Amino acid sequence: MQPSNDRPQPAAPTQEPFVLGDCLKSEVIKENPFTIAKRQLDDAAEVIGLDPDILELLRWPMREMHVTIPVKMDDGSVRAFHGFRVQYNDARGPNKGGIRFHPDETIDTVRALAAWMTWKTAVLDIPLGGAKGGVICNPKAMSPGELERLSRSYIRQVGRLLGLEKDVPAPDVYTTPQIMAWMADEYSFMQGHNDFGVITGKPLALGGSARRGDATARGGIICIREAARMLGVELRGNTAAINGYGNAGSFAHKLAVELLGMKVVAVSDSKGGIHNPDGFDHQALMEHKRQTGSVAEFPGSTPLTNGDLLELDVAVLIPAALEDEISCRNAKHIKATIVAELANGPTTPDADKVLHERGIYLIPDLLCNAGGVTVSYFEMVQNSSGWYWEEEAVHRQLEKKMSAAIKTVHQAAVQYRVDNRTAAMIVAIRRVAEAMKLRGWV
Ligand code: GLU
Repeated sequence: MQPSNDRPQPAAPTQEPFVLGDCLKSEVIKENPFTIAKRQLDDAAEVIGLDPDILELLRWPMREMHVTIPVKMDDGSVRAFHGFRVQYNDARGPNKGGIRFHPDETIDTVRALAAWMTWKTAVLDIPLGGAKGGVICNPKAMSPGELERLSRSYIRQVGRLLGLEKDVPAPDVYTTPQIMAWMADEYSFMQGHNDFGVITGKPLALGGSARRGDATARGGIICIREAARMLGVELRGNTAAINGYGNAGSFAHKLAVELLGMKVVAVSDSKGGIHNPDGFDHQALMEHKRQTGSVAEFPGSTPLTNGDLLELDVAVLIPAALEDEISCRNAKHIKATIVAELANGPTTPDADKVLHERGIYLIPDLLCNAGGVTVSYFEMVQNSSGWYWEEEAVHRQLEKKMSAAIKTVHQAAVQYRVDNRTAAMIVAIRRVAEAMKLRGWV
């Protein structure tokens, strides 16, 4: 058993930690994601002249819980892990958002991700709020038994905040349908009856939705297809690079090839990157990753760093890993025509400006990775009605929701003459603000 890097987090709200005025500092320090989320909000609020009282409410999570989670380890010791659940804003409906297991998790990352969920559900116009959960742990260094006990223990702690009408978690970085199943089971025992609707992204056998697995990638592919149509870019035979090869990134590879006829010439994961100008076969690469734990050293590829991957001359660059991949460190070297954000928060506000000025078409995370939560919403609908949809119905409804959101964001970008992220933020905060006003909160 390797020790994990977990450490306690300060309970008090974090102050604005640092403002980065130049690229030099950001080469050393990664910008705080919650500061970034607030900057994005402030920028959009300024464009539409949002009421300052509403803005102040939107700048903070409505509720958050910090928990210490005891877990019996395989060697007989008991470890204390630290976790969070942040409910950012539920003006439009129950809180919704994934749970991350990651060694670098912080309360501010979870706050930012919860804010982004709030804007994302509003952009897609699904009747949900925004939340996020996280546990500081290194799941790669834990046995399946330890992971199961951690998952159950986390739900015992935050379960009192959860419920189909209150807050519904889902998978995120390093959490899987199996983990969702353990959590749904634990929650059901707490309630005294099966209550699987408390969580989405479950396996099919426990009330999961058809096509939830590749939904995030599929939503992104729909966005890329529409962006290319608008820009007059031919995707068939054209190139893509994917940073991150987890659920979203690997399915994006598969669907970019199958649905768009693209060549995926570079991919990377936390252990390394690979390049092949002829493109990679998805199935063979998945098999290699299954056997070795990484895409690195895939036969017939040349190694490349993650930094080099991001700067490749490709038609579509898909950041599908973590935050802060595209910053002022590298924004001026990005050569892609379209940047499709399958990850949450991969681009900093400074980099946003640079990409916009350079005419790079960015599809913001709020839109590009919203396919996941949209099919999660379909899963909630199916769980409450007890009537399960065919694959074809899921695809049709996803296509409908994504297309409507793409159109609305595009119209806002034209109307307010802003970049796509600010446009998506404007659409979102108008909708959340309207709900808050109607409910008499402001
Ligand atoms: N973790 C995914 C996201 O960031 C899905 C959330 C959900 O389905 O609730 O959008």
